[in-house]
This record gives sequence, structure tokens and C-alpha cells, in this order.
Amino acid sequence: MLDNANDQAYDYLAPGAMADLAHLGSRVMVPLRNRNLRGTIVEVREGGVAALDDKVRRALKPITRVIDERPSLPPDLLKLASWMADYYIASMASVMQTMLPSNIRDEKTKEKTRLTAVMKKPWKADSDEGLALRKRAPKQVAVLTKLAKAPGHKIALADLASDLGNDVRTSVRSLESKGWLEVVTEQVERDPFANADIVGDSALELTGDQQTAVTAIHTAIDADAPKPILLLGVTGSGKTEVYLQSIQHAIDQGKGAIVLVPEIALTPQTVERFKSRFSQQAGGVAVLHSHLSDGERFDEWQRIRSGRARIVVGARSAVFAPVPDLGIIVVDEEHENSYKQDNPPRYQARDVAVVRAKICGCAVVLGSATPSLESWENVRKGKYEGLRMMTRIDDRQLPLIRVVDMKIEATKRKDVTILSEPLRQAMEKRLERGEQTILFLNRRGFSPSLQCLACGATCECKHCSIALTFHKSADRLICHMCGYEQVAPTRCPECREPGIKFNGFGTQRVEEVISKVFPKASVERIDADAMRRKERLVEALNRFKTGKTQIVIGTQMIAKGLHFPNVTLVGILNADIGLHIPDFRAGERVFQLLTQVAGRAGRGDLSGEVIVQTFSPHSPSIQFARQHDFDGYSSQELEFRQAFGYPPYARMVGIMTRSTKENMAEFTLQNLIATLKPKLPQNVMIGEPLPAAIARVKGQFRYHVFLRATNPNHILKPLRETLASFTVPDDVYLGVDVDCYQV
Ligand code: ADP
Ligand code: ZN
Repeated sequence: MLDNANDQAYDYLAPGAMADLAHLGSRVMVPLRNRNLRGTIVEVREGGVAALDDKVRRALKPITRVIDERPSLPPDLLKLASWMADYYIASMASVMQTMLPSNIRDEKTKEKTRLTAVMKKPWKADSDEGLALRKRAPKQVAVLTKLAKAPGHKIALADLASDLGNDVRTSVRSLESKGWLEVVTEQVERDPFANADIVGDSALELTGDQQTAVTAIHTAIDADAPKPILLLGVTGSGKTEVYLQSIQHAIDQGKGAIVLVPEIALTPQTVERFKSRFSQQAGGVAVLHSHLSDGERFDEWQRIRSGRARIVVGARSAVFAPVPDLGIIVVDEEHENSYKQDNPPRYQARDVAVVRAKICGCAVVLGSATPSLESWENVRKGKYEGLRMMTRIDDRQLPLIRVVDMKIEATKRKDVTILSEPLRQAMEKRLERGEQTILFLNRRGFSPSLQCLACGATCECKHCSIALTFHKSADRLICHMCGYEQVAPTRCPECREPGIKFNGFGTQRVEEVISKVFPKASVERIDADAMRRKERLVEALNRFKTGKTQIVIGTQMIAKGLHFPNVTLVGILNADIGLHIPDFRAGERVFQLLTQVAGRAGRGDLSGEVIVQTFSPHSPSIQFARQHDFDGYSSQELEFRQAFGYPPYARMVGIMTRSTKENMAEFTLQNLIATLKPKLPQNVMIGEPLPAAIARVKGQFRYHVFLRATNPNHILKPLRETLASFTVPDDVYLGVDVDCYQV
């Protein structure tokens, strides 16, 4: 199958010696019309060339070249690719493209090599030969002396030249002709951690809970077709140690491992924990993420493909790492949205991990303090095995969470929306005691919805129980699930106050206010804007770790995985903003976020406190998070999902169009739905095609519609059929998002 083409497969011959190189999943160069194109072998005919009759054989052209030494897409990945193409309604070509890093696919990067001089016979300075050489050619002697001392008796020519001058090359050549040494081409690995100081560590003695979890995972690794495992462990319960010792078991069986972490959690702190544990084993740990250079990515990928590195730690796309003989896949923070890819193929890496594990017959462990309700429902149904670790290591207390009602605060003092009095006092105490504070600002929620500043009420759809989206130009509120709309109110529907408007402020504003209130404190902002470059994030985290910074103001970026023992206070400034976005998962997100952020407090010997500022103190997301009660939260939330027909009780498929011409985007989507509707079974819920919450991006108008059904095939099958014969106008983009998120 060719890259960048439609999904048609073409037949070619693999003549003579090439037959030994061309395997299922190999990358090849083939002739098509007058061009040479790259592609992947997706099928190999039994019996080879001999099995073909003459006429067929003469009609076929031979492969020009086999690109890879070993198949880049081994059979398990090819199987996964066809599952993904089918389920996510994407082309096989686009899926295979996603699986291979682009610089490997296009052969843009090569191995890095260097010329190296290797000593061939022992050199003795006081031998006859040596004495003779010393008189005639002192430079040659200098080369031999260096080689004799060098590890492995070899030195790169470039290093010799920088030590002994450029003309050393002449001396090397004549030494080579005399048989003293040989110049060879040697491959160099570009190691993204070349400058990091990795100190080895060894396995910790496990707690009882950890031991139970590790034993269960070992059993899964040894089984033929194990159930997926969900590890529910509170923050600080030691999940990482469980992953490490599970991976150890896989390695001991000669198998490989993949660990997925959200991109934002892929901090040096996380990677170092894996690197340290396995520095001396299994070829070390390979790392795959978006900050690698092309050369580094190429070498890390080759190390994995060749089986030299058997453990991979990486972000979303590392789920496609070509690890031979997989023993375990770990998905850490499995509830994270960033596992879902925004552009086609719009896959969810957690789900893909589960499918890949099934194909490989290996173990898969999904870990989180706040599992997604999709995964949790699978535990309740018995499809997944559930493991729990409900206490922190060393019985450290989970932090005390205090909720501050901003409605009451607002009656005491005007303009109190950023910093309430209880939070201010708590911060002052930390400064006096030399402890640190994290202030967290929820940035999800800049989606246009209205909230009353007096009572905190928001406008919700009566039918769908999600926030209505504010369309400013039309001055209307619209439900993006069902299409219900109304005129935007000027007064709050609950308390009749005229103060209803967008609620929102940014981190910069917070920084200004905090610096004014605490003029002597050292304050730093950590968000995507301030930390464009990765090094700046590392530096900022270091300043915080060493205590140079007393107060950090941050967004989602600081919610994950960080471990700062001296942080005893976390303030959450606007907990409810995320509650009122037009997304049925809004509550789940807030619960997850509060739990994760609270998890940053009290990780050292000092106990922690969390203060949550909110207009909705009684919202279940906030109350259950306050009590660290995942069970309570999930069972209530699942009831709501079931009542309104949301996932996990239904699958949701989004279809969207984009065009510079608004009517074309709208018309195409309406047209598609009209064609699709008659083919859908009765039980499929079909929404209205509507402008997306952010209706226009880069001059493109965006429309979307959501479909729901308990059985995904009730939507997917008719949709595939409809799309196959549906003509999308040239100036319109049409995309499908299976298991979509709403905003
Ligand atoms: P989680 O990922 O569940 O939030 P971590 O894996 O980060 O938790 O563990 C929290 C802290 O406890 C870390 O500093 C870790 O080194 C430590 N830890 C984990 N397991 C043990 C153990 N068995 N004995 C001692 N310390 C442990
Ligand atoms: Zn509605």
C-alpha cells in the first residue's frame, strides 16, 4: 500500500534475494507509472514467484528496493492499523503514516556515522619498529600512543584531528597501509539523555497494597490472554513503583514494555525514574516524544525496532512503538484527554493500547487516581480487573480540602473574584513559615458560557443538562447537543440580578494581583505562554524545587506528576469555571482536576492543605473531591450518564465540516445527515448540525453534529457506507471523530 495515496493495494514481485528481505510490514520503494514511490507491504502471497502463472508474472513489476532491514510495521501493528482504519473511519494510509515517525517514513534522517581508527597490532614504543618510527614519523607515534591508551583501542578521526591537528589524517593513512590500524565507519547513537546524569536505583520494598497489585500484574504478564487491568491509586500511593516492578518482570521474561504518559507529564522527573531503574538492563530506556530532534527520534526508534532497547517511555504516539515481543503496556493517568488525537486518524491512545494488548496477548495496565468513567464502567462490568491502592506511602495524610464560597465572599468585599480572604491568610502563613504555595487557575472554560456573578448560576439546557453556549454575534444561547436555543438573558434566571456575564481571568492578571498583595514574595507564573521552551520549564521547576520561588501560579501544566515536598498549600482559584462548559464530561473533568491538583500538596513530611474557591460549593464534583471519594463520585456521575444517554452508556460520534464559506460548511453537513438518517436504526440519537462552540478558526467556519448509540456499529456501519458514496465539495473539509470529546 502506497504512502499518501488511496487505500488501494498494488501487486509487485520480490525477485531473487529481495524475497528474503521483503516481509509483511516492510517498507519498500516501488515503481508506479513513471514514478518511484514509498509504501508498505500489507500482504505476502504464499508460494512466492514460483506459484504465479507466466502471464501474471510478466505483468507485474519488481520492487525497486527494500528500505528497512526489519519490517517497520510488524504484524501486530499491521493488525492494529486495520482495526484503527475501520473503527475510526480513517484511511489505512493515514493510520500507517501515524504509526511511523515522519522522518523514518520519508527516509529524511540517516544513521549518524563517523570514521574511527582502530588499532590492529600491539604498539611498543621501545621495540625496534617503534624506535625506527619515532625518528622518522613522530606524528604517527603520537597516534599510536593515543590509540594504545584509548578504551577499545579506537578513536574517532575527528577527535584525533582536534587533538593532533588536521594533517593527522595523512599519518593515519600511512599507518593503515602499514597494517598498524584500520579505519572503519562506526555508527553513533544520538542519545537525548547524553548529558543527563542518570544515577541507578534499585527496587523499593513494596507496601502490602503495592505487592498485591504487582502480583496481579505479574500473573497477567504470564497469562496468554489477560484482562486489561485498571489500577486505581490515590495520588502518592506509589503507582510508579508498581509500574517499575511490573516492567521488571516482563524484562526478566525477555519481553518488552511500553509506558505511555501524557505529554505534559513527560517531565525529566518522570523519565529519570524509569531511566534510573533500568539504566543497566534491557538496553536502557528509549524515549519518544515531540521534543526530540529528528536524529534523536530516528535513533531511539531504531533502538526499539532492533530490540536493543526493550522499554519505551513516551507520549500518545509511543503506543505504536515497534517493540518486539511486548509483555506489558502501561497507560499512566489514563483519564487524560491528551491521549485523544485531534487530527485524523482521531484515535484515543488508551483504547488503542487496550486493543494492541489484545492483539499481542500482553498485559495492559491503566493507572489513575481518577479513572475515566469509561474505564471504571468496564471494571464494574467485569471486563477489566480492578486493583486499588487507597492510602499514601508511609500513611501520609491526603490533604485537607477547604471550600470557600465565593458568593459569600463577594458580599463582604467587592472585586474579590481572584483572591478570597481565607486563601490570602493561608498564603501569608506559608510565607511566614518558609513553606511554598501553588495557585492553580483552571483554563478550560474559556468557552463562551454565561455565569451570574452574584449567585453563580449558569444557563443550562433543559434537555441535555449541559451549559448553553453563548453566541455573541446573535446574542443567543444554544445547546450544542440538541440545538435548543433562546435569547441570551440580561438578568440572572435564578436571582434576577443584572450581573450575568462571562466569567474569566488569566494567569497574568492573577500574577499582578498576587504581587500587589505580597510585594516581598517571589512569584512565578508557569503556563503554556510563559514556558514556550522546554528548558524554561525545567529551569522554573528547578527554582521552585530549590525554594527560590515561594509562590507558583500555574495552569493544567502543573497539575500532574510533580513532586515538591515543601508545598503545603494549593489554592484553586476558579474551581467552577470548568463546570459550566458545554460538555457532559465537565463535572468529571473538574473532579479529576481538583483531585490531581490537591495531590500536589503535602507530599513531603509536612501535611498539606487545599483551598478551593468556587461559586458552586455544593456541586458534587467539588464535594466528592473534597472527601477524596472516587466511589461516591463515580456512582452518582454514572447515574447521570445513564439517565441522559451519555458515554459510557452510549458511544458518541462527532462529524464536522469546515469551510471558508459558511453556507457550504453548514449545507454539506446537513446534506450528509439527510443522506445518513434513513440508514440509521431508530435508537440512534441524532443532534442538530450547528456552528461549533468556536465557530470560526483561521477564517474557516466550523459546523458539527453529534450522534449517539449504545452499539457503535449502529452508527459506524451506515456512516462508512454513506461516506463511501458521498461527494464532499472541494472547498469543504469533512471529518469524523469516533468517541469524540465535545469541545
Ligand atoms: P503516585 O504515582 O501514585 O502518585 P509515586 O509513585 O509518585 O505515587 O510515589 C510517591 C512517593 O512514594 C515517591 O517519592 C516514591 O519514591 C515513594 N514510594 C513509592 N513506593 C514506595 C515504597 N514501597 N517504599 C518507600 N517509598 C515509596
Ligand atoms: Zn439540549
